Amino acid sequence: MATLGFVGLGIMGSGMARNLLLGGQRLVVWNRTKAKERPLITDGATAAESPAVLAAQCDVMFVCVSDTPDVEEVLFGSDGLAQGAAPGSLIIDLSTIRPSAAIEFAGRLAEEHEVHMLDAPVSGGSEGAVAGALTIMIGGEVDQVERARPFLQLIGKKITHVGGHGHGQMAKMVNQILVVGNAMAMSEALLFGRAGGLDLAKTIEAVAEGAAGSWMLSHRGPQILAGDWSPGFTVDLQQKDLRIALSEAHRLRVPALVTAMASDFYSTLQSRGQGSEGNHALVKAYENLAGIRIGG
Ligand code: NAP
Repeated sequence: MATLGFVGLGIMGSGMARNLLLGGQRLVVWNRTKAKERPLITDGATAAESPAVLAAQCDVMFVCVSDTPDVEEVLFGSDGLAQGAAPGSLIIDLSTIRPSAAIEFAGRLAEEHEVHMLDAPVSGGSEGAVAGALTIMIGGEVDQVERARPFLQLIGKKITHVGGHGHGQMAKMVNQILVVGNAMAMSEALLFGRAGGLDLAKTIEAVAEGAAGSWMLSHRGPQILAGDWSPGFTVDLQQKDLRIALSEAHRLRVPALVTAMASDFYSTLQSRGQGSEGNHALVKAYENLAGIRIGG
């Protein structure tokens, strides 16, 4: 049996790590804030003192941390995975980071440490992570994708090898452009419905199964109506992804009009101190413009 490692037990990582354990895998975990390791240890995982110590015990390691510099730190920091990983081992990065960084990190790991890497960002929210039902888009070498597949099947239900290193992250940017497009449309539509005097719960029920349906509307629409701003995915992390998407769109010289508008709206929430709320709080930017309340 392979020994797996998991670094980064936040909203997403904790659910994914638990599903690896429930799938019968031997698991070693590390999280910067130690308290988040405890529930996994209760479920049968062991904890390592550092990513380097974890790597020395594992054949295949998963990373799920916030942003590009954070992935760089857990990979190449003084106690990073690269310090302990054996040649031939595999690191699967489930975080969402810059595509160019994914290419660079895979190159450094291969050349300096003979360690394989896949970029394997995920979609499906905290609910998907808990349910083991994530969508996973992978960049990297085909033999490593097949090596990873049995483990990825424990955390995801749609696993697609989209191309070489960095292409998983590019596909994730496509995903994020679609996500914020849906969030913008949902916010505008709910504001319109509220102004028009509709019962919004009934309205969502009426339209969610038709051509206007979306994951965002079905999962976050009811949360908005309940005034529940707890994060499946925070505004701050959403903005991190939009910065990546907009910088790639600039490099590629393609328009990203809705994405740019969504990012500006999210900035207004951050300046009001709402960066730790869920990304569906986008609707508040619309409320602020119209002077009408939808949620809560
Ligand atoms: P989160 O709950 O904020 O968790 C972030 C994790 O990263 C925590 O374990 C945190 O450690 C760790 N971390 C951050 N910086 C670090 C550093 N410099 N060194 C070591 N550990 C560090 O975020 P999340 O929602 O799970 O998101 C994690 C990744 O998944 C992000 O790239 C995000 O874009 C992506 N993602 C999220 C969702 C979603 O719906 N939430 C969906 C798809 C993809 P501490 O516990 O010590 O803070």
